[in-house]
Amino acid sequence: MLEKTIARTILAPTDGSFRLVNHDPSWEGTKELRFLTGQKLKKRAKAYLKERRADLIDAQEKLYADNRFSLLVVFQAMDAAGKDGTIKHVMSGVNPQGCQVFSFKTPSEREIDHNFLWRHWLAMPERGRIGIFNRSYYEDVLVVQVHPELIKRVSVPDGDGADQFWTERYEDINAFERHMTRNGTKVVKFFLNVSKEEQRQRFIDRLTEPDKLWKFSANDLYAREHWDEYQRIYDETITCTSTPWAPWYIIPADNKWLMRALVMTVLVETLTALDLQFPDVSAADKKRFRAALKTLQAEAG
Ligand code: ATP
Ligand code: MG
Repeated sequence: MLEKTIARTILAPTDGSFRLVNHDPSWEGTKELRFLTGQKLKKRAKAYLKERRADLIDAQEKLYADNRFSLLVVFQAMDAAGKDGTIKHVMSGVNPQGCQVFSFKTPSEREIDHNFLWRHWLAMPERGRIGIFNRSYYEDVLVVQVHPELIKRVSVPDGDGADQFWTERYEDINAFERHMTRNGTKVVKFFLNVSKEEQRQRFIDRLTEPDKLWKFSANDLYAREHWDEYQRIYDETITCTSTPWAPWYIIPADNKWLMRALVMTVLVETLTALDLQFPDVSAADKKRFRAALKTLQAEAG
């Protein structure tokens, strides 16, 4: 119940009224979230993650056994918002056989010779599995819209960056997610909403702590220079692609532990809502299994 209220609070509306500015990256919750906030937030969020991890593991096992659905989890964010850490902390302990993570980088020559959804189709989770996209086809309306020169790499008709071109991409994405949903893939999308100041701090940490230096890339500053443009396009993208069948959750990302706890909440809620069942064993199979049991028990030990 509590979790449902929280999930609703961070859910983007699907009626076109979404505004990114209404979502505070440092939000630590309303009174419903008291159990996670305050000075002991990290400790409480860790305990909460541990507790709900057991539910996530159970739900994933049922997802696999039920074999009717799959779950696609999309992560989008500005750099250093914490995609990698969230995936690590939320998914650790889940059976690796039931879970696949794909990180989408700048498309290869081969990939851009296909339509922009192609490489994502290939990576979609099979029935019974959880697929995680660390960046996704949303890059094709985000980074590519911020840097229209990227579209020149792709020879598509009408690829002149006009408004209609992006509107059609949003339509394609909505249709793709609708198709996936109709075929048993539940789609859940997270925008990890980090503030510009928190990003600055995290970059400074990366540049000043020897163990974190490897995480820094000069490209990160390049994207940061276009911060306002990214925020505007995230706002538009989320507004145009928030649908009842593929919801966006706007996760406040300035506090890493709160962010991880919120993602866990949404995943457990989403899987639980699928009403997963262990498959029934038919009467005929039950009879066969009883006979098998008798045979095994009768074997000399
Ligand atoms: P981290 O920095 O935490 O390792 P990351 O997801 O930022 O993770 P990078 O290798 O730094 O990984 O960046 C991947 C880059 O690929 C991003 O700048 C992203 O915008 C870019 N990218 C992903 N998809 C596309 C696309 N379809 N077209 C152009 N660029 C893309
Ligand atoms: Mg990066």
